[in-house]
Amino acid sequence: MTLKRRSFIKTAVTAGAVAILPEIALANKKPASSKQVIVVGGGFAGATAAKYLSMWSPNTEVIMIERNAQFVSCPQSNLVLGGSKTLQQLTTDYHDLSDNHGVNTVQAEAVSIDTDKQTVTLNDGSTLNYDRLILAPGVDFIYDDYPQLENQDKIPHAWKAGPQTVLLHSQLMAMKQGGTAIMTVPATPFKCPPGPYERACQIAHFFKQHNPTAKLIILDANADVVSKKGLFKAAWKEHYAGLIDYIPNSTIENIDINTLTIETEFDQFQADVLNVIPSQKAGKVAEMAGVVNVDKRWCKVDFLTYESTVKSNVHIIGDAIHAKLPKSGHMANAQAKVCAAAIASLFADQQPEQEPVFNNTCYSFVTDTEAVHVAAVYRYNAEEKQMKTMPGSGVSGKSSELEGAYADAWAKNIWADTLK
Ligand SMILES: Cc1cc2nc3c(=O)[nH]c(=O)nc-3n(C[C@H](O)[C@H](O)[C@H](O)COP(=O)(O)OP(=O)(O)OC[C@H]3O[C@@H](n4cnc5c(N)ncnc54)[C@H](O)[C@@H]3O)c2cc1C
Repeated sequence: MTLKRRSFIKTAVTAGAVAILPEIALANKKPASSKQVIVVGGGFAGATAAKYLSMWSPNTEVIMIERNAQFVSCPQSNLVLGGSKTLQQLTTDYHDLSDNHGVNTVQAEAVSIDTDKQTVTLNDGSTLNYDRLILAPGVDFIYDDYPQLENQDKIPHAWKAGPQTVLLHSQLMAMKQGGTAIMTVPATPFKCPPGPYERACQIAHFFKQHNPTAKLIILDANADVVSKKGLFKAAWKEHYAGLIDYIPNSTIENIDINTLTIETEFDQFQADVLNVIPSQKAGKVAEMAGVVNVDKRWCKVDFLTYESTVKSNVHIIGDAIHAKLPKSGHMANAQAKVCAAAIASLFADQQPEQEPVFNNTCYSFVTDTEAVHVAAVYRYNAEEKQMKTMPGSGVSGKSSELEGAYADAWAKNIWADTLK
């Protein structure tokens, strides 16, 4: 890193949470030969890609655009609902990415993308050029069928860790003794397949401690629990008998936001606390770039580079892609490294790795201390141009406190790997 670059970053960071970078400054500090990569999104995918590309391609200017001032982890956010973690414990700032790795972190929103001119426009009106663009926007919610759910604070989704997580926790704390909480699960694919069932455990855990006559009803649009089924059902039986009613094939037909009434095809339910997890699609910025090309929801990519199949020099990683891979933080982190390595190779006029392999381990807490996991290895299949699951993948035999300790260690490790 040059002195010039270091001082530039310092200026951007010390300017406070909002550090909008004039294009001229970016142009001035680059060595003549360097390339400029813009990363939109500072979640597990974007922050990892920005960090590792900066490390592996030292002449590349990496600018990470993130609308939030701090990173708040969705993994472990269900524990905030259960009462054993605080949101503060899941929050990390972005300073280490700039201080340790020279990433230009910019708190701003990307509001338009011109893939012909190769520019990204930010919400302050400034425009940045890129040689390659990495989109890591995560998911946005689909409110087409239930517009009343957008921009309201009676029925939190709490599916992006932050104020909604705190809101749902406070609603659970304030719920009357013997009351009913209802949560809904959308049809797959959605971000974090085991997440809703872990959430059910955490809400039931909270009730067991503070409101033992309360009930949690899970209305699942799917035909059955979609991840770690045996483990979750065993945990519900062992720890939360009488506290959880699980109702599969429950597609929502109507929601009354004032009375917290929810209708499915077969029944009507009235809640004291209602948590609706909406259906999801690639974050809006992917639409702006014209890279949403599967079911009007997801982005198809080349798994060797994560480049879009429809727009050159635009790469998409993380939850926003269409893949036979779980939408997890662990996967987003792994895809980001494959993408960063491929871009570093392309800039060095080398062929990207042709047989990427990576793994996913996803822990879920079934109590405040006991966890379970699912783990799998994925390898690129050149014939099918897909990441395919390798034999030997599987789940824990049973929940344990040891796995709970592993889950905490996993979280600390991936936050550091992504952000430090
Ligand atoms: C309750 C819950 C529990 C979970 N538990 C686990 C777990 O235990 N293990 C696990 O591996 N995964 C877990 N996940 C899944 C994991 O959180 C996601 O898969 C992961 O966050 C995906 O990373 P991402 O970078 O693609 O998206 P995100 O982490 O969502 O990051 C996207 C970022 O892009 C930013 N952004 C979007 N658009 C713009 C724009 N236009 N301009 C600027 N910034 C923008 C957003 O602000 C956001 O910070 C869980 C998820 C939930 C909801």
